Formats: sequence, structure tokens, C-alpha cells
Amino acid sequence: MKRLVIAGGGTAGWLTAHYLDQAINGVAPRVEITLVESRQIGRIGVGEATVPTLRETLRTIGLDEAEFIRQTHATFKHGIDFRDWCRKGHSFFHPFDRSSAPGLDKANSAFLLSDFTTPYADLVTTQRVLAMKGRAPKSASTPGYDCHLGYAYHLDAEALADMLSEHRRDRIKHIEGKIAGIERSEHGVAALLLEGGQRVEGDLFVDCTGFRSLLLSELGPKRVDYSKGLICDRAVAFRLPFDEKGRPLPPYTAATAMDAGWRWEITLQNRLGSGYVYCSSFKNEDAAEAELRSAIGVPDDVDARHIRFDAYRMEEPWIGNVVAIGLSGGFLEPLESTGIFLIEFAAKMLAEHFPYGPVPGPLRYRFNERMAKIYENVVPLLNLHYCLTQRDDTPFWRQVSRPEHRFPATNALLDLWSFKPPSGSDFTDTEQLFSWVNYEFILFGMEWRPVGMGVGKKRVAVPELIANDLAHYEKELPDHTHLIRELVG
Ligand code: FAD
Repeated sequence: MKRLVIAGGGTAGWLTAHYLDQAINGVAPRVEITLVESRQIGRIGVGEATVPTLRETLRTIGLDEAEFIRQTHATFKHGIDFRDWCRKGHSFFHPFDRSSAPGLDKANSAFLLSDFTTPYADLVTTQRVLAMKGRAPKSASTPGYDCHLGYAYHLDAEALADMLSEHRRDRIKHIEGKIAGIERSEHGVAALLLEGGQRVEGDLFVDCTGFRSLLLSELGPKRVDYSKGLICDRAVAFRLPFDEKGRPLPPYTAATAMDAGWRWEITLQNRLGSGYVYCSSFKNEDAAEAELRSAIGVPDDVDARHIRFDAYRMEEPWIGNVVAIGLSGGFLEPLESTGIFLIEFAAKMLAEHFPYGPVPGPLRYRFNERMAKIYENVVPLLNLHYCLTQRDDTPFWRQVSRPEHRFPATNALLDLWSFKPPSGSDFTDTEQLFSWVNYEFILFGMEWRPVGMGVGKKRVAVPELIANDLAHYEKELPDHTHLIRELVG
């Protein structure tokens, strides 16, 4: 194993290239890494919200946090504000932080016996209130990537790929060219054939060519289809530029339910990104675009981008000597901002299972198994948002909440939680994104109650510990908009 070739230079290609370079060549150069991309074909151009794991990935890659924030027009993210999901006018927050202080372990029982008027998040973390008050998760003197509260970013993914393409240029060989074909070998792929006749040989190939999946698709991969519980299959997106320096920058993602799906609103330093993820059986492209334009007030001269997708993963993202990472390996709608996370996870798993020798069979098996498990960890959480809704005001919501749109895994979890609230032992895998903590925020946010439990009559008070933390953070943490302006100068 001497030559690693990455096909594609989107977020997946560049993050994988630098992560593997650090993991494999960090101590001594062992493998030559080449990345081939076509600027003419371009990148998907969406993907703005992330989860906290990105901080560790960027730190590993060696990017300076302030420089990263400047170049990608990033803002901080405390979590996601879900609006109109349970019913119109209702909202709940999915924060990244949950205090594990003693005494808060009974918060779920207290909440379930209450009248639900105190948001569950406020019983176990300060993060929802701080987000709504526009506070940053850290101050200007906090070292890069460190934090007072777990946080992630909103970022311009194209700018991140550009930044990574300039980072440590001597370590990744970069070829600009269009892949016109593939030369097969008995193990999979022997070389990429570029327009103009160039041949790029390799021992291991990483397919980061996006939805095209140029390499893996040649090897007859099977797909695992998730459209039963995730029925949305289209998106329409806008970028609304702005240059008012004083404009407030919300430190959270907004995800608002719409007639046939939901929309995201993500504020970067220089623009508002918004997109409507919807189901084409209930809305056509023109109607979806019109609904989004009217919801967020898009001027007529701003063009829309329409994107088609399937909810799926490759059953075996690693076949022969080809590993698919990013959109070529699978896609789940961005309801919990998991796209870039799945790239980080795959890059980490490939580093851990890197085939230095000639017999990668067991490594390939383990990699494929880990990727399947991480998808199976995320999918029921996304599904819960739809199956716990109380909305029945449009054909989409009446359809998506029907029992046949629940995955078996969602049903199994809900059956269990009919008898007890979620707890640590429900999720025993150490490599997972979502644990009982995240599931609780969604369940309780959507006003789920175990079977046979009546509606409580009393408002539950915010625990003293959380109230004290809140008073402390309100003094310590700066305004998010001011901090971002200060960091970018
Ligand atoms: P791409 O960006 O499509 O890159 C493909 C690369 O392959 C490009 O460099 C292209 O030039 C190259 N290529 C293709 N064909 C050839 C060829 N023939 N020759 C040479 N090069 C070629 N993720 C999140 O984490 N958060 C979000 O909020 C989020 N929102 C999303 C919203 C939507 C509607 C969609 C569809 C996705 C979203 N994602 C999100 C997912 C995220 O966009 C992707 O995971 C991420 O951008 C990685 O894309 P990629 O690199 O796999 O593919």
C-alpha cells in the first residue's frame, strides 16, 4: 500500500485527504496521497450545519480555529430549534450539551409528571436559553476548539473545501482534471483515466465524487433504502447574501416544518442559507419553491437551486480497493446536520482500518460494519421527528405519521420506552453519534408520553444547579454576534 487516490474535491474529498494524511503520515510519510477533482463539475454547494465532532476533526487536521471561522464565514451553533413539528406554534430545542451533574438524573421523571410548560431542555442544560438570548458558547480568550458548552458551527462548505485545498499543500498531490473513465483491475480499480489522456494509478481509491459515485458504482454496490421512514426526496435551496455588519447572527439552526416537509435557516457571517426538504409525492418543484420564497421572503432576482436525492446508504461502502465516503456512500436528509459528521466518521474508520498490507478482507468487513451501525444509530432519530408529530393539517403530515412509516428500529425503541424513560444502557455502542440523551430531547420535545401516563398538572421548576449555571454564563459569555465580528476582525 503506497498510493492512495481520492476522487473528488468536495467536503468529503478534502476532509478525508487531510484526516488520513494526519492519521497515516503524521509520524512518518508512509503513503502518497493524490486528490483528483474537476472544478468544472463543481461541488454540491449545500451543507452548512454541523455537529460538535467537527471541532476535533479540524484540530486534528491542524486548522487554526479563528482562521477557519474567518475563511468559511462560520458562526457558532448551540443546537437546533425545531418549530411547528409537534403542532403549529410549538417549538423545542435539541441542544448539544446536557449536564451530567448529580441530581439531574431524575429530570426525565419530573418532566413526564409535569404539564410540559417548562421545556425539557431547560431542566438539564443552560444551552437553549443561552442560544435564544444570542450568547456565544465561548469567549474570545477561550483557546481554539475548547469550550464552555459543547458547540458546532454553521459554515460555507465550499469555502471549507477551498481552505483545505490550500492547507499543507506539500502533503497532498492535487490534480485538476475530469475523470472520463476507470481502468479496472481484478481487485477493483487500477487507475483513473482523465480527459486529455492522463492516467492516475493507485493501490486504494476513495470515491468522493458525490451523488455520481463514479468509482463504487462500477463495482455493483447494493443500496440500503431508507425511504420508507424518510420520505422526503427533494430540496430547493436559496442563498440570501447580506452585508449589514450589525445584523444579529443566531447561534443555532432553525428547522421549521412546512406543508410537505421542513425548511432550514442557517445564518453565516455574510448570508442566510435556507432550503426546503420536501416529498415530491405531495409538492412539485414550482410549488415548493413558491412556498419557501413566501415563507422567508426571497426576492425575485435570487435564483433557487433544486436538488433530488434518495435516503440510502451503500450496503458495502468498501468493495475491493474502493471506499466510498460522503454522498457517494449514502445520504440522509440534513434534519440533524449529520452529512459532514458521516464523512468525519468514515475518514476516522478508514484511518483505523487502513490496509497497510495486501489482505484487507477483515479490515473491509469491519469498516463496512461500522458504517452500517452509524447509519442505524442516526436513522431512527430522524424518523422520530416525523412519527411523533401531532400535525394532521396537510396530506404530507397525515401520511408521514402513519405507523407504516416507522422503521422497525424506531418501533423497538418506542416499545421499550413505553415502559421506562430512555437511559444509558439503551445504547451500548461506544462509536455512536446519538445516545439516549439526544433521543430524550426529541421524545420530550415532541411531547411523547409513555403509554398509560396521564397529563400532569404542575409546572416543573428549573433545578437550582441549572439556574446558577445560567446566571454565571450570562455574566461570562459574550454576545455571539459581537464575538464573531471580533474574531474575524
Ligand atoms: P460533492 O460536494 O458533490 O463533491 C463531489 C466532488 O467530486 C466535486 O469536487 C466534483 O468536482 C468531483 N467530481 C465529480 N465527478 C467528477 C469527475 N468526473 N471528475 C473529477 N471530479 C469529479 N451536510 C451537513 O453536514 N449539514 C447540512 O446542513 C447539510 N445540508 C445538506 C442539504 C442538502 C439539500 C444536501 C443534498 C446535502 C446536505 N448535506 C449537509 C450533505 C453535504 O452537502 C455533503 O455531505 C457534503 O457536502 C459532501 O459532499 P461530497 O464531497 O460527498 O460531494
